[in-house]
Amino acid sequence: MCTYRRKEKIELRKQVSEMTHIAEKAARPPFCLFCGKKTSLCNSHIVPKFILKNIDEKGMVCYSSALVKDFDDIFDSKKGINNAFTFHLICRECDKKLFAHYEDPRSILEFEKLDEDARKVILIEMAMKTHLAHIFRKVFSYSIFSRLYPQEAQGFRGAGIRTGQEIDNEEHMQYLSELLQAKDDPGFDFELLYDKMLDYDVGIATQTIIAYVYDLKGNMLFSPFDHERAALFKYFYLMILPINGKTRIFFYIEKENLPKVKNIIEQFNALTEEEKLHFLFISLIVYDEQFYINPVLLKTIKKDKKLCKLFVQADASSGSEKNCRKIKNFRKYNNYLRNQNPQRQYYN
Ligand SMILES: [Zn+2]
Repeated sequence: MCTYRRKEKIELRKQVSEMTHIAEKAARPPFCLFCGKKTSLCNSHIVPKFILKNIDEKGMVCYSSALVKDFDDIFDSKKGINNAFTFHLICRECDKKLFAHYEDPRSILEFEKLDEDARKVILIEMAMKTHLAHIFRKVFSYSIFSRLYPQEAQGFRGAGIRTGQEIDNEEHMQYLSELLQAKDDPGFDFELLYDKMLDYDVGIATQTIIAYVYDLKGNMLFSPFDHERAALFKYFYLMILPINGKTRIFFYIEKENLPKVKNIIEQFNALTEEEKLHFLFISLIVYDEQFYINPVLLKTIKKDKKLCKLFVQADASSGSEKNCRKIKNFRKYNNYLRNQNPQRQYYN
């Protein structure tokens, strides 16, 4: 019986892997989203390789999805650094040009030494990367959906109905072009709500956007199903970047939007430094679709049933917005961004 189950699992993994491969190819646009050239698209990393190298184990890193029980039965939770967490939306030339400033380790290590303009450009480039990665993930999920439910997908298209993903992607594309222009706009700036260089390596990396649905007191900020209302103004950026045995963390939002999210910002600013880090970690668990973990640390976190349950419940499924409310109880969960392994035990 065991052999039969094993065979079933192997077959299932094979099928999922094939479908993922096809859906991933179909999600690639026929041209570069920035310059419009019909050329081969670049294998762009969401989190740069020089950051991922800090959380690898023999060249391998893990997806946060592996926190879901039995995930390994169906998907590969580990990836080699070269192909880990990539997207295909822009050409090589644009990839080089658009992210040249922040994809330099000195920008992360010596951020505070840079002048205001240079800092702004780095934050813009990081934000642009997160929007691109978000768009790719949405297109990819739709590509999977249209393979699993071809009739429903055809129904949407035939009726001329714009899907939630399409509306969402248009907003992100629009904001991307604004960000590109913002590099030379003196009126544009970000508010850095948290900027720390931790003197230890957290073993976790991400570059993500968070749209908080609830504030820290459990009050609803906006409905995630209200697609027609642009929710972009509520987007916070969270970057967790381990580098050279340290970890740079940025948490920021466009300055112009501060009044619109005044309450949650005041609540965040009132937290202690330790609580802020704790809140950011639980934000990652509740909101981030995909972050990356050192394989040994993953095993430790997987044993934390309470945290894994929160991660699963908050996953993008129906009713998940209610679970976003749990952010107010962030203190009740463990914070794995804390330096709890001063001897770096999880690094063998
Ligand atoms: Zn291009």
